[in-house]
Amino acid sequence: MYDTLSWEELKKECLSCTKCELSKTRTNVVIGRGNINADLMLIGEGPGRQEDFQGLPFVGAAGKLLDLLLKALMISDDMYYIANIVKCRPPNNRVPYETEARQCLPYLHRQISLVNPKIIVCLGDTAIKYIIDKGAKVTKVRGQWFKKESYWIMPTFHPAALLRDESKKVYMWEDFKKVVDKLKEL
Ligand code: URA
Repeated sequence: MYDTLSWEELKKECLSCTKCELSKTRTNVVIGRGNINADLMLIGEGPGRQEDFQGLPFVGAAGKLLDLLLKALMISDDMYYIANIVKCRPPNNRVPYETEARQCLPYLHRQISLVNPKIIVCLGDTAIKYIIDKGAKVTKVRGQWFKKESYWIMPTFHPAALLRDESKKVYMWEDFKKVVDKLKEL
């Protein structure tokens, strides 16, 4: 059903969704932000406190760090669309349960096909697990290209991991450099 929804219908479905327990504690459903026609789509894990308040993804501390990195790489706001595996904040920012992610994923799949990006960047283990491979871990697969359907997929660290460990910055920079190069090439 979701693969036929327009943006407006999809938004309506998401805003009224009560499929999992996360809907009970949310302030806002966090759908996505950015250019819906972009060649680049970024996918994180789930809304944090700030995102839940504002109804927008990556507007808290991790989002600010990600913004800085993207700006330094000349990736401007209009060049990407950003969303998460789950659209409602897990209590205390815990990792979303598999049942929650599976309930929410059809919405994200619809967003991906509506945006139809050339490149998808998976930010951290949760996005990697549900977009690339259930058993894959960021430390093993980061920096390598995966191809699914028409999409080139690059796994890298979640910006929150960089807030905890600065030494990861150089790796995330390298991974996004590959993304910038590929965007030019495609
Ligand atoms: N972390 C995420 O994975 N997504 C957000 O939107 C914010 C923080």
